[in-house]
Amino acid sequence: MSSSSSAESIVPDVLADRAVPVADPLADFFWRSGRDGVLRLLRCQACGYYLHPPSLPCPRCLSPDVHPEAVSGRALVHSFTVNVQQWVPGQQPYVIAVVELPEQEGLRLTTNILGCPPSRVHIDQPVHVAFVTHHDLYYPVFLPDP
Ligand SMILES: [Zn+2]
Repeated sequence: MSSSSSAESIVPDVLADRAVPVADPLADFFWRSGRDGVLRLLRCQACGYYLHPPSLPCPRCLSPDVHPEAVSGRALVHSFTVNVQQWVPGQQPYVIAVVELPEQEGLRLTTNILGCPPSRVHIDQPVHVAFVTHHDLYYPVFLPDP
């Protein structure tokens, strides 16, 4: 058993804490996938379609045969907003973004862009996945490509 407070994030988080995702056996892999630094999404084994957020059956072919598969972790910023509301005292502005992964048209993930000031984030910006850790879970965030 590991302690949630001792887990170290791979990158510093801008958020003091994060909400614990609603328990969902279908999505459990997603929140733990970052343990080895790899982003995984559900993929239909019958037709190859990626499903995110996780769901059953495959919305394309209705197969129930879906399993987590590693994706590249690369993405482009599809859209974003900057949160300036201080939810906790001292909270700095942070970026909430939707990024699109190259594996499939329209395969998008809601996330945060870390590693640069919010003013430097832009549409179509190349980014790559990293993980922050809270509650023994690995929250995928994205960093600007060098
Ligand atoms: Zn399918």
